[in-house]
Amino acid sequence: MLSLLMLQIATAAQAAPQDTAYFAQGVEYTIEASLDESNSVLSGRAELHYTNNSPRRIDTLFFHLHLNAFRPNSAWARRDAEMGTPRFNDLGPDEYAFERWKSITVDGREVTPLWPGAPDSTVAAVPLHSPLEPGAATTVRIDWDARVSTLPRRQGRRGRHYDFAQWYPKIATFDRDGWEVQPLMPQGEFYGEFATFDVTIDLADDQVIGATGVPVSGDPGWSRARAAGTPEPVLQRDYYGSPPARPLGLLDGLPAAGRKRVRWYARDVHHFAWSTSPDYTYEGGNYEDVAIHVLYQPGDDEWAHGVAVNREASALAFLDTVFGDFAWPQITNLHRVEGGGTEFPMMTMNGSAGQSLIVHETSHNYTMGILANNEWKQGWLDEGFASFLASWYAERHGGDPVEIWSRSMRTIREMDAAGESQPISLPSAAFRDFDTYNRMTYTKPSLIYRMLRDLLGEDVFHDGLRLYYRRNRLRHVREEEFRAAMEAASGRDLRWFFQQWIHTTATLDYAVTAASAKQLPDGKWETTVQITRSGDAWMPVHVRIGDEMQLLESRDRSQTVTVRTATRPDRVVVDPDDILIDTDPVNNSRGVR
Ligand SMILES: [Zn+2]
Repeated sequence: MLSLLMLQIATAAQAAPQDTAYFAQGVEYTIEASLDESNSVLSGRAELHYTNNSPRRIDTLFFHLHLNAFRPNSAWARRDAEMGTPRFNDLGPDEYAFERWKSITVDGREVTPLWPGAPDSTVAAVPLHSPLEPGAATTVRIDWDARVSTLPRRQGRRGRHYDFAQWYPKIATFDRDGWEVQPLMPQGEFYGEFATFDVTIDLADDQVIGATGVPVSGDPGWSRARAAGTPEPVLQRDYYGSPPARPLGLLDGLPAAGRKRVRWYARDVHHFAWSTSPDYTYEGGNYEDVAIHVLYQPGDDEWAHGVAVNREASALAFLDTVFGDFAWPQITNLHRVEGGGTEFPMMTMNGSAGQSLIVHETSHNYTMGILANNEWKQGWLDEGFASFLASWYAERHGGDPVEIWSRSMRTIREMDAAGESQPISLPSAAFRDFDTYNRMTYTKPSLIYRMLRDLLGEDVFHDGLRLYYRRNRLRHVREEEFRAAMEAASGRDLRWFFQQWIHTTATLDYAVTAASAKQLPDGKWETTVQITRSGDAWMPVHVRIGDEMQLLESRDRSQTVTVRTATRPDRVVVDPDDILIDTDPVNNSRGVR
C-alpha cells in the first residue's frame, strides 16, 4: 500500500521517456547547524541551490529525511516488526531519531511539504509554485531539528559521542528514470546527487570531530587529541581554494562561551556525514596525496600505534591499482558507536579496525561513492563489488584462495541447489527477508565478479575495471555502464553473462560422468572423458585430465573430450579451481578407469 502510493506520486512527478542521455542535477548545499548536547538535538538551516539539468520539467522536489526511519511506526520499524526483530518501535521519546522540519521556503516563498508515505516520514514532497524548466535553478531553504537514536543503526549516539549520517534534508536523486524515492528500509541503503557541501557546525569546544570534506576553518580538535608522539595533522584547508562564506544567519556573531565552530567543505560527494566525541584519539597519515584521518575510542588498542592508519593506506593503495586515483582529498576512518561498518564519501564509520572491514568500507568509496550506483535498485554493484574487492585484496596479500572463497561458495551453492536464491537484480526491499537480501547482494555477486574475472582473465578484467572507472568517475552508474566497460575491454558480448547471473536464478551443475583410459600401441595413453551439464545456466569450464588442462566452451549438455598423454592420468576434475557456482561439486571429479 505504502509503496503503491509512493509509486503513484513519483510517477505523477515525472513526465515521460526513460533512457535519455546521462545528466546529473546541479546541487549545492550550504548548511549551518548547532548541536545542543543537553537534549542531543541539532538545529540546522540548509540552503540548497538546485539546477534542473534534466531535459524534463519538474513540478515537485522530493527529499529524504532518513533519520525518521529510526523511530516508532516508520516503514523501517514496521518492516522490523513484521520480520520479528523489533528495534525502533520500542524506543522511548528521548531515544528515537528524528528530523523535524520547522520551515521551508522555495525562492523565498513558504511552501507546505506533503508526506506521501505517512505515517512514515522519510520522504517529503515539496510542490513548487511554478515548474522548474530544464536549465532553470531554484533555491530551497529549510530550518530543521534533528536527533540521532540511542539504538545505533548507520547513525547513533552514546553519551557525548554522536554519529551523524543522513541528518539533513537530502534532496532525492532525479536521474534518467525520474525521481528515485522510497522510504528507508532495513534492506537497501542510499542513492544521492553529487553536490557541493559547505557545512558549518557549532558545538562544544572540547569535541573532536571528523567529517566528509576538509576543515576550511575552525578547530576539529585533532591536534589536541592526537596520539602521543604522532605528527601534527594535515588539515588541507586550502584544498578547494578559498570558497567564499555564505552565512545563513543561524550562527550569527561569535560562538558562545565554551563553544566552537568548524566549517567543512567538500565537492563532488553525494553525502555529508560527520561524527564527534570528546574522547576520540586522532592519528593521521597519508597514501600519496590522500590524507588519512583515524579517530578511535579509549581502549582501542587494535586501532592505535598506526595500525588503523596503515591498514587504511594499504586499502587505498590496493584500490588505486584496481581502479585509479582516489577522487577526493582525504578519507576519515572512525570508530563509531555501532559495530559493523557503513560507508560515506570520504568517510568510513567502523565498529572495528579489521583489515577486511577497512578494505570493504574503503572499497565503497570507489563503488557507491565515486561510481555512484543506486543501492536500492542495484546493491550488487557496490555491496557485492566491495565484498569481492576485500577477497581479492586478501588473495593479493597471501591469503589462501580456497579459504577465502569457500564459505561464500558453500552458502550460495546450497541456496542455488535448494531453489532459495532470488534474482540479484531485484530491488533491495523486494528480497524475501534480510538474510536473502544479504546473500543476493553481497555474497553471490562477489562470486559472480570472481567468475567474470576468471572468464576474461585477470588482466582483461582489470583493464575493464579501469575503463569503468575512467568513464564513470563521479557519475551515477548502472549495470549497463559496468557491462559496457567489460565488453569494451574484452571485445566480447557479455549480455548472456549478466542476463544469466544477475537477472535469473538459473543454476549450473557440471559433472564428470565417465572417464576411461587405454594404452596405445606407441605406449601413450588415450583418455576419453564425458562431461555433462545440467541446469539452465552455462559457463565455459576448465577440465583437468591428469596434468592436462582443457577449456570447454561448447554449450552442449554432453561433451566428450579425448586427450593423449605420456602417462596414465588417474583423475579428471571439472572446474578444478572451484570458480563456478556449481550446485553439486561432489560430481566434479572422477577417477579414470
Ligand atoms: Zn558494504
